[in-house]
Order: sequence, then structure tokens, then C-alpha cells
Amino acid sequence: NDETEWEITDLAGDPEVADQAPMPTLAVVGRPNVGKSTLVNRILGRREAVVEDVPGVTRDRVSYEASWAGRRFWVQDTGGWEPDAKGLQQSVARQAELAMNTADAILLVVDAVVGATAGDEAAVKALRRAKTPVILVANKVDDQRVEADASALWSLGLGEPRMVSAAHGRGTGDLLDDVLEVLPETPREGTGGTGGPRRVALVGKPNVGKSSLLNKLAGNERSVVHDIAGTTVDPVDSLVELGGKVWRFVDTAGLRRKVANASGTEFYASLRTKSALEASEVAIMLIDASQPITEQDLRVISLVADSGRALVLAFNKWDLVDEDRRLQLDREVDRDLNRVPWAQRVNISAHTGRAVQKLVPAMETALESWDKRIPTGRLNNWLKEVIAATPPPMRGGRLPRVLFATQATTRPPTFVLFTTGFLEAGYRRFLERRLREEFGFDGSPVRISVRVRE
Ligand code: GDP
Ligand code: GDP
Repeated sequence: NDETEWEITDLAGDPEVADQAPMPTLAVVGRPNVGKSTLVNRILGRREAVVEDVPGVTRDRVSYEASWAGRRFWVQDTGGWEPDAKGLQQSVARQAELAMNTADAILLVVDAVVGATAGDEAAVKALRRAKTPVILVANKVDDQRVEADASALWSLGLGEPRMVSAAHGRGTGDLLDDVLEVLPETPREGTGGTGGPRRVALVGKPNVGKSSLLNKLAGNERSVVHDIAGTTVDPVDSLVELGGKVWRFVDTAGLRRKVANASGTEFYASLRTKSALEASEVAIMLIDASQPITEQDLRVISLVADSGRALVLAFNKWDLVDEDRRLQLDREVDRDLNRVPWAQRVNISAHTGRAVQKLVPAMETALESWDKRIPTGRLNNWLKEVIAATPPPMRGGRLPRVLFATQATTRPPTFVLFTTGFLEAGYRRFLERRLREEFGFDGSPVRISVRVRE
């Protein structure tokens, strides 16, 4: 357990190459013990044995850079297991759904010796709705005797089971050839399992101008469709073309047709906001610039910050703002919006249409940041420099060392730091600031989690 095993500079391949183009993601899903980690290690060519060495790591979605036949891609080792069997099926289905949202191709791994189980069926059921290509992998086919068992997996309805032995490497080369056939060259846009338009939530306390803004946006440019065709229930989303692209404004039924305000609105407003955020990738939060920022605004900000969505702050009713109010507002922003200092700010008037078109580039930047992935090599080179210049403060007479960092997920970018000791909140904030200075991430939250290595 010497830390030299954590030296990773040579693991990421050539960072210059990795930076040139965004790489597509291959997700590996399946129930526990079918051999996902073994397969991931096999695909990576053993270099990143780190997967198995660190307790807890495989529980998260962690991505590694891989290459096959000259093509580079991310391999996402999905996890998130409830250790007990009770929540297992749900957990597998959820994992499959996450993969549908974040990956460009999916390997569903099944244990050929055990055969199809309820857990496998749950994954298959979730994946049936995927637009993402899915390849069924029959693992543990160590020799010909198991091949007959593996053939039984045709019954899962995902086509031909690709027979491999992750442990011995049997069939994994052919599998990777098949993967490259379905894996796109570049990551697709939008995703959300639909590959469709990017999803926007309009949030803000009542009367800030959400309906007015939606109408303005839909009217200003050609509104493609207001309602999703073919839905018999209340259509909830609006598709709007802005800046040459179609955007899906989620959960807008209530904005288009004002719902009478019942009592207990605050509670329902917060539920609505939560569900809209949940369905979105980027939020436009409206704030009434003509009035002091209120408690209600802060509650919405806090929901937005917790949601992990990309964010644009729209200061609306700018037509009512004079010089005095502007100065006052700046002070309020400093005081009240410190949870989201990274969010871009646009001053608009839904009423006159002032600057509403600026929302589009702001959303694009925010989503780019939200989707951004820093190659492991580049991340660790940067980290080494930062830490050499400013080491973390001592704790209990010992200097915690940061050994290694990896970006575990995007949407939002989430980094895992492996350390020999606890890192103080102040130092984490320092690292986040430096990370943002180096790599950007305008408009997106960034999460940093620390794993202390025993
Ligand atoms: P995960 O929980 O899906 O990540 O599964 P692991 O990769 O941890 O593998 C679970 C167990 O199956 C381990 O004991 C592996 O050694 C074993 N295993 C994985 N692949 C194979 C294989 O191809 N053949 C055999 N016989 N065992 C395997
Ligand atoms: P919502 O409850 O957030 O959907 O807010 P509405 O869109 O219904 O707007 C509430 C009130 O604010 C309405 O009377 C609007 O006409 C007004 N309003 C909305 N945007 C603006 C703006 O930019 N300037 C001015 N002066 N009034 C606005």
C-alpha cells in the first residue's frame, strides 16, 4: 500500500490528444457480481487497477479513459448499489436509466453461468426505452461448455448475447469491435435519453414574469410547437426555437394557462419548482430586479443550488430599474446570491423584450460547462502544481496529502479527490476556485468530494 501506485500521470494516455475532441461514453451496467469491474479493467488493459484497490470507488459512477483500435472513449463504471438485495431491482433499473442519460452506448452485463435473474430483467425493462445502443454481454463464458447457457440469454430480447470471459479476456476484443460500430464518434447532444432538445426550467417566485418571458420567447422567434403532439393529457412542456435551435421548456402548462392561486401556494410552488428542476438540464431563474430580493427568492435559489442543474440568473423587469435601484441591487446580489457566484447574470425585460436573446448564449455556456469533462492526466497535472504551491493546512499535526483526482461524472462536473487525511472546507473551496480559474465551468455547479484513504 505504497502511494506510488497512485501515480497516475501515465494512465491517462496523452492528455493533448484527449483534449482535442470530446469523447463518447460507454457505460457498463448490470447487477452486482456479474463481472462489470472485471470487464472495465479488461477494457482498460489492466492499467487502472485502482478500480479495485479503493474501497467504495466502484460504488460511484467513475469514468476512465480507454482506447481501442485507435479510438478513444470514456468507460463509465456504474455503481450506486444498495448492498441489500431488497432495493436491488430498483437500483439496477435506476442505474440503467442514468446510463441512458449520460452514455452514448451501453453494455448490459449478465452472468451467463447464473442465467437471467429478476435483477437482469429489471435492467432490460428500463433499457428497452433507450435510444442509446445497448449491447448484451454474456460474461463468465470461460470455455465452450458455458456457451450453451449463454445462448439462453437471447430470451432477454436484447438480441445476440456477446459471449465473453472478462476474467480471461476471451471474446473481449470482438466485443470492443462491436462497441466501436455502435459508439458515435462524438458524444451526442441533449441526451436525457431522448437525444432531443435541451431541457430548460423557468423558475422564480410568483409574479416575477415567468409566463411573460415564456410568451416573449415563444413569440419573438418562431415558436415551433406549443404542445407536444399526440398527448391527450395536459401537455406539460413547450418546444421553442431560439437562436436556431429548439429548446424544451419543461413543466410550462401552469405558465401558459395561469392556475388560480389556492391557499398553501408556497408549498405547491416549491413542489412545482422542484419537479421542473428535476426534469431540466439548465434553469433560468427569474428575479424581479425592481424589488428587493426576498425570502421567497432565497428559497428558490436554494432549490436551484441543491438541484445541481446549470443555471442562468435573469434579472427581469429591468425596464423599471433606475440608477439607485441598480446600486442597491448589486449589494443585494453580493449578500444573497453567494451560493451561486458562478451563475451568469442577464438583465432582461420580459415586457419590452430587452436582452431576452442574451439568455441563449448564457444557457449554451452553462450547459457546455455542465457537460464538460477534464481528462484525468490534465486534471492531475494541474492538481500537483496547485498543491505544490499551496499545500492543505495541517490537521492534528499531520499534513494531509492529496494523492489523486478523477472527474467521476459530468452534469454537473463532480470530482473525487483521494487523500490521506481530512481536507478542511476552506481548502476545498480554495481548490474549487482554482479549478474554475483553470478550467472554466461558468454557469455550472461543480462538486468536489473527498475520499480519505486508510
Ligand atoms: P461487479 O460487481 O459486476 O463489478 O463484478 P466483479 O467484476 O467484481 O466480479 C464479480 C466476481 O466474478 C469476481 O469474483 C470476479 O473474479 C468474477 N468474474 C468476473 N468475470 C469473470 C469471468 O469472466 N469468469 C469467471 N469465472 N469469473 C469472473
Ligand atoms: P409569473 O407569475 O412569474 O408567471 O409572472 P407573470 O409573467 O404573470 O408576470 C407578473 C406581472 O409582472 C404581470 O403583471 C406582468 O405583466 C409583469 N411583468 C412581467 N415581466 C415584466 C417586465 O419585464 N417588466 C414589467 N414592467 N413588468 C413585467
